[in-house]
Amino acid sequence: MTSFIIERDKLLSNTKEIISRAGEAKVFAVVKGNGYGFGTDEYIKLLYESGIRHFAVTDSDDAVKIRGMNLSDIDVLMLRSTSVAEEVEKLIENDIILTIGSLSAAEIANDISSKKEKSCRVHIKINTGMGRYGFLPDDYDGICSVFKDFSSIEVCGLFTHFSCAFKSESVTKKQLDAFLKLQNRLISDGFDTGIVHFSNSAYLFGFKSPLGDAVRIGSAFTGRIANKPADCKLLRVGYLKSRICEIQTLPRGSTIGYGSAYTTKKEIKTAVVPVGYADGFNTEKVHDTYRFRDGIMYALSEIKRMLTKKAYYGKVAGKSCKILGHIGMTHTVLDVSDVPCNVGDEVSFDVNPIYISANIPREYI
Ligand SMILES: *Cc1c(COP(=O)(O)O)cnc(C)c1O
Repeated sequence: MTSFIIERDKLLSNTKEIISRAGEAKVFAVVKGNGYGFGTDEYIKLLYESGIRHFAVTDSDDAVKIRGMNLSDIDVLMLRSTSVAEEVEKLIENDIILTIGSLSAAEIANDISSKKEKSCRVHIKINTGMGRYGFLPDDYDGICSVFKDFSSIEVCGLFTHFSCAFKSESVTKKQLDAFLKLQNRLISDGFDTGIVHFSNSAYLFGFKSPLGDAVRIGSAFTGRIANKPADCKLLRVGYLKSRICEIQTLPRGSTIGYGSAYTTKKEIKTAVVPVGYADGFNTEKVHDTYRFRDGIMYALSEIKRMLTKKAYYGKVAGKSCKILGHIGMTHTVLDVSDVPCNVGDEVSFDVNPIYISANIPREYI
């Protein structure tokens, strides 16, 4: 009854645009989180067919799964530094490039790699402000130690990750400066850093240069990047498709949904669609409220939303239909008063696939 539809032509167009924007830089397709909601197998095949040869994940099972697809001539990078032995073992066995973000991660990778007599390529992660993994730029001795003190691991990359590329030029520049300064110091001390990379989607499309030797791109493939610049040619890919399961006529003064949040102002025709937040529909977190000023911005935008009566919509027979009342766990009600439609007719919703439950089948068209 419900599936998430992915349009191949749009996805291919985004892939072309990303590869062209990246220019000389290699493109690592980040396919974490069930491929940003696009699923994995078919998505990865399609990326491979469009020329992508570098993949990045944050889950060791995903890394192994990609290796199991037997795509020739690919690199798989695990983006998360890990010191969990079983995980490291699995990754090394499958020739996955590891991320090393601490000396303990380097020790474990080195031990396992030497025991298995298997080479182990690694990228060193630098924490310039993201604060999850990585050596602080000031920990120069620690970083050099990864190059010098572990004979069974081979450093072939150095990277950092931006925390605010989607909204702050100054924070991003500061992170980049710290990273490039460190890179230069390593080079002048004679270390071969391998490829350097730092760009995510928001940086690639917002800042454009410098790009380093590789870019790591996830959301841009879906065409849903935060603060998309005006000149950005990415297309929004994918929509949630379901069907009308009930049509009703409700008299004026009827209430709809939990909390009776909506009351009809006249007689209307409604369509019930069996999707809701249990499927991940409309669970997208659009506001940031951690900092006081973000909380204020959120409150203001909610007031604006209330005043302008901004609603969510679904499409029936090519027409936008307003969603009435609160979306339920497995139900959504649309106003179809002006749209000729029947039970069984298709309804589509423009939603970000990241939030759509992995239980909803993905269908490529
Ligand atoms: C998720 C992720 C990316 C991709 O970010 P997008 O903004 O979706 O392009 C890049 N690098 C790292 C380390 C990530 O975790």
